[in-house]
Amino acid sequence: MLGAMQNWDLRVTHIIDHAAREHGTREILTHWADGSETVTTWAGIRDDALKMTQALRRLGVKPGERIATLAMNHSRHLVSWYGAVGVGGVLHTVNPRLFDDQLEYIANHAEDQVLLYDAAFQPLVDRMKPKWTTIKHYICYDNGEFEQWIGAEDGDTQWAQGDERDPCMLCYTSGTTGNPKGVLYEHRSTMLHAITSVQPPIFDLDARSVMLPVVPMFHAASWGLPWGGAAAGIKFVFSAVNDPVVLCELMNREKVTHSAGVPTVWLSMFQHMDAAGVTLPTLRQAIIGGSAAPRFMIERLMRAGVNVAHAWGMTETSPIGTTGAKCWNWDLLSFDEQVDVKMMQGRVPFGVELRCVDLDDPAKVLPRDGQTSGALQVRGPWVIKRYFKAEADATVEDQWFDTGDVAILHPDGTLQLTDRTKDVIKSGGEWISSVELENAAMSHPAVAEAAAIGIYHPRWDERPILVVVTKTGAEVSADEIKTHLAVSVAKWWLPDAVEFVAEIPHGGTGKVSKKDLREQFRDYKLAD
Ligand code: AMP
Repeated sequence: MLGAMQNWDLRVTHIIDHAAREHGTREILTHWADGSETVTTWAGIRDDALKMTQALRRLGVKPGERIATLAMNHSRHLVSWYGAVGVGGVLHTVNPRLFDDQLEYIANHAEDQVLLYDAAFQPLVDRMKPKWTTIKHYICYDNGEFEQWIGAEDGDTQWAQGDERDPCMLCYTSGTTGNPKGVLYEHRSTMLHAITSVQPPIFDLDARSVMLPVVPMFHAASWGLPWGGAAAGIKFVFSAVNDPVVLCELMNREKVTHSAGVPTVWLSMFQHMDAAGVTLPTLRQAIIGGSAAPRFMIERLMRAGVNVAHAWGMTETSPIGTTGAKCWNWDLLSFDEQVDVKMMQGRVPFGVELRCVDLDDPAKVLPRDGQTSGALQVRGPWVIKRYFKAEADATVEDQWFDTGDVAILHPDGTLQLTDRTKDVIKSGGEWISSVELENAAMSHPAVAEAAAIGIYHPRWDERPILVVVTKTGAEVSADEIKTHLAVSVAKWWLPDAVEFVAEIPHGGTGKVSKKDLREQFRDYKLAD
């Protein structure tokens, strides 16, 4: 027997219909790369998205096909999110900070049909065009091209209909070993995530909120804000440039109440604020995630009366995993104790389950005792089942996704990240593969063995260092190794330091023990 309620598929086009209907006049402001500004509304975003849906149909785009964007945060990018899903397509947000091999791989792997891009990325597009084999249509957001393209349509159309389990969005993550991997979100998972993201303790969003999201729309779906923000009817202030001078000016002029970014972003804002004597009096919610927020950052924001939502999540979790929702006894804690709580990664909303398992015996589930650390696993309706185009595999079907993070769970559910098992380094919110650095280093004739680890860096959170054992009798300098690496990896991947050692620690199976190596370099200090 079925229940007797109405059919209302959990498709994300309902979100923009709602925003236009209930919050139609709420503004979306964009500060463009050339310094100009434009203002539209949720109703305007929907009108343009409908036109884009028609324009995509005219290009022959079919439901399920991938429509890629290579763009910073702005209103045309937001239109494209809803326009792409409106045609039944899959929005693929490409991270322009990836380097050429990765960009080539992901666009071809995704089989992107259309690419919408910022003029700032024209050189990248020109360089990659011959290598991208599936993209048939290139549309630039600037120079009037996008407006002209959608302006040829009247917007008198319907969103594509379909199943709520249809895919709607694709994001690649390089936070794993090997090639970047695609995470294919579905309408249903995205809707459930959006509904959760507007629960008060999550991001504290409502129709009064003015949000400047610094987290890019190509990073884990800008933490779902383009969906959640529409559901709550917030005002967005977008900046297509990430200059702290511009960001602070916008925040004060537009009376921004909410912002979101990785710790590196907050740090560069603080530096500018100190140098220019600027404060952010209207800000009351700072969402920090992607890397651990340092104590001084949390303290500074809290002293300024800002609520810090220190969140943990992954591209694979849409990305909300935990947020800084307050614990029941929050008001009974001293300021220092409150900072202690915020230093941890917070607690799950309803819909996410966490557990830690023994690092050597994953069948053993560990107690939530606030002491025992283990491999963090997660499950829920907006958590990945398998990567895009990966074969169905019985072990993943049991639904606990292995995060590659090492954590302690406290009795009240608070998550505390302590380490990582995945062999990647996160610098300024972007991933660096240690394995690729090591392979590149070991192709040098003087190198016997090399291991890359992340070291705390005050600005970038982590920077790689390379630990090298040279071949007997061989001589090589740190600079020679860096020059050798520069041939195969991006400049921002190059290790900040190369350290020569007699031996690199190995575990029982003969593999390099990164845990021991990190321990060995625990007090290592990098130059700023
Ligand atoms: P991404 O998929 O690029 O968003 O990266 C997700 C990974 O970033 C997680 O698995 C963690 O390793 C790391 N991460 C995210 N949030 C935090 C946080 N608040 N503290 C420490 N690490 C974090």
